[in-house]
Amino acid sequence: MRSRYHAGVSTKKTPGMRVKELRDLLERANRAYYVDAAPIMADAEFDKLLAELGQLERDDPDLDDPESPTHRVGGQPIEGFETVEHAAPMLSIDNSYSREDVIEWHGRVLRGLGLDEKAALGGRAGLFGGGAAPNDAMPELVCDAKIDGVAISIRYEDGKLAQAVTRGDGVRGDDVTANIRTIRSLPLRLSGKAGEKIPEVLEVRGEVYMPLSVFGSINRQREADRLELYANPRNSAAGTLKNLDPGEVSRRRLGFAAHGRGEVSDEGFAPSHGGFVEKMKSLGVPVNPLRCRTRLIGEVLRTIDGFAAERHGMEYMTDGMVVRVDSFALQERLGRTSKSPRWVMAYKYPAERKTTRLIRVDAQVGKTGKITPRAVMEPVLLAGTTVRHATLHNYGRVRDAETEQPGVRTAIHLGDLVMVEKAGEVIPYVAGVVLGERPQGCEPVEAPTRCPECGGPVEIEPAEAEATPALETQRRCINPECPAQVREKLIWFAGRRQMDIEGLGEKTVDLIRSEAVGKIPLNSFADIFRLGRYREELLSLDRMGEKKVDNLLEGIEAAKGRGLARVLASLGIRHVGESTAKALAKRFVDIDALLEADEPELRPKAMTKDEARAYGLPEDPAERTSTELGVNTAPVVHAYLHSRPARQMFEDLRAEGVGLRSREFAKAAAGGGEAKAFSNKTVVITGTLETFGRDELKAMLEGMGAKVSGSVSSKTDLVIAGEKAGSKLDKARELNVETWDEARLLKELGR
Ligand SMILES: [Zn+2]
Repeated sequence: MRSRYHAGVSTKKTPGMRVKELRDLLERANRAYYVDAAPIMADAEFDKLLAELGQLERDDPDLDDPESPTHRVGGQPIEGFETVEHAAPMLSIDNSYSREDVIEWHGRVLRGLGLDEKAALGGRAGLFGGGAAPNDAMPELVCDAKIDGVAISIRYEDGKLAQAVTRGDGVRGDDVTANIRTIRSLPLRLSGKAGEKIPEVLEVRGEVYMPLSVFGSINRQREADRLELYANPRNSAAGTLKNLDPGEVSRRRLGFAAHGRGEVSDEGFAPSHGGFVEKMKSLGVPVNPLRCRTRLIGEVLRTIDGFAAERHGMEYMTDGMVVRVDSFALQERLGRTSKSPRWVMAYKYPAERKTTRLIRVDAQVGKTGKITPRAVMEPVLLAGTTVRHATLHNYGRVRDAETEQPGVRTAIHLGDLVMVEKAGEVIPYVAGVVLGERPQGCEPVEAPTRCPECGGPVEIEPAEAEATPALETQRRCINPECPAQVREKLIWFAGRRQMDIEGLGEKTVDLIRSEAVGKIPLNSFADIFRLGRYREELLSLDRMGEKKVDNLLEGIEAAKGRGLARVLASLGIRHVGESTAKALAKRFVDIDALLEADEPELRPKAMTKDEARAYGLPEDPAERTSTELGVNTAPVVHAYLHSRPARQMFEDLRAEGVGLRSREFAKAAAGGGEAKAFSNKTVVITGTLETFGRDELKAMLEGMGAKVSGSVSSKTDLVIAGEKAGSKLDKARELNVETWDEARLLKELGR
């Protein structure tokens, strides 16, 4: 087999032939390496052949092909991710945490299939597979490891990788195709055995993960660069998938393992989960291997136990075992609840718990003044990472912590042996104290009575939704000028999901606020936009070269145009997050309109009939556009907006040129005529438009009640096609979907 792909250059070959040969060879090598775990060439040789292919494609652009392996190294940075509807919803799986849960689930499956549970099990011997032979009437079960990664649906059309979408809310996710294409183990084109038929549409679901070795080396580099470390491999895989630069994604070397199916156009493609996974593997897709196939639930339990230790030696993080009914026909009969399928269940291993010594407890002040105790401990290896810090949640839990003795609680003391857990979650936490190991003469941890940062007064308030409310309390610094709070607010404001100010991270904020005290003011949001006046002073700071300063100032300039919703969501107003800010921006055209609004106008859904009439809005609450603020929260937001400092802040931001107009505002809020044309319609935007940015138009149409989708299907009501519209327009024509060009769109919008 190998000699067929001998890499030598023959003089008789045309470049086109050589290109094809190289592509085959490189894909073959990828597959051998990632899918079959049997490499056929050294890395250096692979890189050399890849370089040769790249050169041939550059020499003759006609030979280039988006499916070529050279494109895996990542193309141009992308602008953002479109939201796309899944062809079949991506449901979540129910979790269970004990053997009893697993046995109960199995009982429900048997009853659901109309089997007599006891007869089918054949007594205890049947349950644990001791003596009795497995009953043929029992459904076959299959198990595979639950990979702690990011769930993705990958769609192949005519054997080519067409689209990759994150789970999102299960119904709609983000189109991350450009980034998924950089995953070397994933074939861009499926290749079956000769004569094997590949379904026209084949959606495979699986988990994108960051190999633990890659995770370790990235964090070592970040440590060297004095950047904040990533908390765990799942988060960095998720973060990587949302990176706008596919080139960077390619360098992160993500992995993929298939574990399920989405839409498949050929009904007879595979009759069962195990069969589907086998087929995918034979088509070159890396799969999550089955760990057992059995009719006995006892065998499933044994597999779960056996994997408990083995799982730590995997290339990826796993936190459990997925058990499912193998046959698709039986899966269908069992159906689903409103939340999740009945034929599958995930057993989750208990959180790993380690003990270590508590050295001290730091008090950290957050952007709302909340003071959180953080444990500093002797380093301990926990679920694959070294842990030195852990949260203690709040001082209530410090005063009243669990111990190793059931029912006994104690205040945490300095020097205590503490139990640390990380339940597959981001931040490790202190679960309790080993009372029997407490050294003599150590002191309990004291809660601060003054703010540890500014010395200001501290307020104690009951924590929200805690198990023992009498004891769980939060402490908050109530000094609005508290430097720690100002710091946190500035960092939050500049963050990626808020104003997204390139170059203004935690380190830079600290640098300016500590080294340039008195030289460069940075105490308010408006101060950020005044930094341009201090270019010379910024250049004099340690580690701030010309390029870094220019990047920072450009980032600040760019942030001025983010629009009202982003500004509102970035200010750290209580009860106003991303979605509420967007909802407000849909109703109010700019900050002035918002500031003029009375309190009832902020909660239109919760208005009384009289109020609705007074504001000229429909009496039926269902017909009013929501701002997501309720009766309790609207007064808080209203009071904030009308406070003197807030008004001053908006004035200052405006004076510095920060845009406070809404990008989401639509006449729909007032019930304008043109809105009706889009209400409840599923719209796809494709190609380049002259009048609108794509995001802008999407926001506007959504404001008028449209659902904007990323792909054309039979459910699409309307396609808006700009210049250079490609395959989506073709598909729309094929499906007879109504199509508008830009001129028609403008006419419909009354422009
Ligand atoms: Zn303070």
